[in-house]
Parts: sequence; C-alpha cells; structure tokens
Amino acid sequence: MISEDLAKDQVLRLSGLDYFPLEPKAAQELVLAAMDAKTDDVCKKAFDSLCHDAVRCPVPADIRRMVRVENDKLEAKPENPLKSSGPLCKTCQSNGYFKQRSEFIRCQNCGNGREFSQLLLDRLNKPTPKPTQ
Ligand SMILES: [Zn+2]
Repeated sequence: MISEDLAKDQVLRLSGLDYFPLEPKAAQELVLAAMDAKTDDVCKKAFDSLCHDAVRCPVPADIRRMVRVENDKLEAKPENPLKSSGPLCKTCQSNGYFKQRSEFIRCQNCGNGREFSQLLLDRLNKPTPKPTQ
C-alpha cells in the first residue's frame, strides 16, 4: 500500500491531458486506482508508462490495469535456475537430474528438477536396446 500523497502526486502528472477530471470526486477515483500499487516504485513506473503515450487522461480502469502490470512484475521470478544468474545446483549442475548407480534421478534440490519431465526420465532410464543381428 502506498501513501495517498504519492498517489495524488502521480495523478497530477495527468492534469495537463484532455479529459482530466475537473470534479474532485472524479479525480479522487484516479487516486484510489493509483493506490492499488504495492510500492512507490510500482506507482511511479505505472504512471511513467501511462504518461509516455497518453493522448487523453486515462480512466481509473486504465490506471488499475497499468498498476497491475507493474505489481505483477514484482512477483515475477525466474521459473528455472538456468535463467537466473548465480551458482549452478550442487546436486545436478542445474540439469534437473543426476545419475546414481546407472539410474537417472530427478533433482529435488532445484526448480529444474521440478520442471523435469517424467517422460524424459523414463526415456533416459530405459535400457538401451541391444542391436539385433
Ligand atoms: Zn538440481
């Protein structure tokens, strides 16, 4: 939750645009929409985007949509450790599986293991067919 002051400040950035509400209650709806932002930074980024290509004053739904986009970015994490920087998984070197006594086992240590397809594991563990003569 962000402060109403910051939300008001951001909404005022729209005040030069056509259709900016003259009625204080209508302007307050824009402020309330802006207050959906989880952090100050989210609010600022949402209004940066809105101001960037606005041809008229956004309505509350526009603001909520843009704030939601920025809120979601806060929660977005890489699904796969290979996509993130940092050390490789110690168990599987981020392959998602490791070999133990000639059997491939899904790694329980990292996200790659959780993503790893059971189908592929079964294929890896299937004994290689002996060439027929
Ligand atoms: Zn692993």
